[in-house]
Amino acid sequence: MPGPARPYDALVVGARCAGAATAMLLARKGMRVLVADRGAYGTETLSTHALMRGGVLQLTRWGLLPQLIEAGTPPVRTTSFHYGEEEVALELRAADGVDALYAPRRSVLDSVLVDAAFDAGAEIRHGETVVGLLRDDDGRVRGAVVLDAEGNRREVAAELVIGADGIGSAVARSVGAATLQEGRHATATIFGYWSGIGTEGYQWHYVPGASAGAIPTNAGLHCVFIGVPQETYRAALRGSPMEGFQAVLRAVAPGLAERVAQGSRAGALSTFAGRRGFLRQSWGAGWALVGDAGYFKDPVTAHGITDALRDAELLADAAAAGTPRAFAEYAATRDALSMPLFEATEAIAGFDWDLPRLQALHKALNQAMKREVAEMVARANPVLWEAA
Ligand SMILES: Cc1cc2nc3c(=O)[nH]c(=O)nc-3n(C[C@H](O)[C@H](O)[C@H](O)COP(=O)(O)OP(=O)(O)OC[C@H]3O[C@@H](n4cnc5c(N)ncnc54)[C@H](O)[C@@H]3O)c2cc1C
Repeated sequence: MPGPARPYDALVVGARCAGAATAMLLARKGMRVLVADRGAYGTETLSTHALMRGGVLQLTRWGLLPQLIEAGTPPVRTTSFHYGEEEVALELRAADGVDALYAPRRSVLDSVLVDAAFDAGAEIRHGETVVGLLRDDDGRVRGAVVLDAEGNRREVAAELVIGADGIGSAVARSVGAATLQEGRHATATIFGYWSGIGTEGYQWHYVPGASAGAIPTNAGLHCVFIGVPQETYRAALRGSPMEGFQAVLRAVAPGLAERVAQGSRAGALSTFAGRRGFLRQSWGAGWALVGDAGYFKDPVTAHGITDALRDAELLADAAAAGTPRAFAEYAATRDALSMPLFEATEAIAGFDWDLPRLQALHKALNQAMKREVAEMVARANPVLWEAA
């Protein structure tokens, strides 16, 4: 009779930017890692995908930027903020090995991360859903119950279960992770893809009550989006997203709307109806949360992927150390870096600003992003870089 299976060092639930990156880093540290995702490999998800400097920094340090560039992800060297008719154009300053930003489609980014986790030795299982957690007599999490695509249930023993299972995290629910902060605002986002619109760099447009923008991405396409308060979406856009999208785009960014009208749309529009942000307790006995599972903020500041890549490293370091003190440090660092971003995002998502106030909020956001980058640069982690 075979004995009980040896526990994994970590079971990671979710194989997108947070889960795949965490699994890769744990495997590079020599840990035995299983990743389960109920979805399919190489697919899109409901998200635009502009990376900020901190996100590109992580991908560069992990040696993954060349794969993204090979996949045709264009470099972004300027960001233009349009406050009504006033344009503030910023050139990206080359620093810390980052000389351009990138906005890879999620099918590209998440696949690169999953492949890197696999190459580092993690076992990856798509089409497998975690449906419950295993606990010992003391209540400590010891693994999970997994349902495969054929409906077979099996128990997976693991020293640590990492919930990287997104906004509606089953792991967070199951462990009863406390909500530490809750947002008050939610922005609805409608986005789609166009070829032939020819704008340069990231384009962010704002008028009181709405935002819009264009993000260059793979295959010569631009992701074009609009954002409005959830209440506006419900009252005016829900029934006719295409008409609503066009009307908001014309009102917020008439020049971009003209280019879009002349370009060719690739595929249908996608709609995110909005959800309030939250910061959840990030670890407990035998479990931890990373990415949106533990910390979601309104997409109006396009920063969730960057933070997920940051927290993957913070959590991987804590998990490798394995002590309560290391996990407490993960929580403290995540929360200290996240709260200024969360608060600035909340204020922007409230749409209760005039354009000068919005510029001040963007400056606060920029300061928070600089602190985030400085913290990651200061975390010399040669083991991870050499493995890349
Ligand atoms: C409209 C919109 C626009 C956005 N735009 C940007 C942007 O421009 N830039 C940016 O940085 N961020 C953006 N974000 C935020 C970004 O999408 C998220 O922060 C990011 O996707 C979080 O990644 P994650 O890996 O934590 O979770 P997810 O990407 O949600 O992945 C979770 C994974 O867990 C799996 N899963 C869930 N439950 C289970 C289970 N029980 N068992 C097994 N697997 C499970 C799912 O299948 C999924 O693959 C945007 C978000 C939205 C909604």
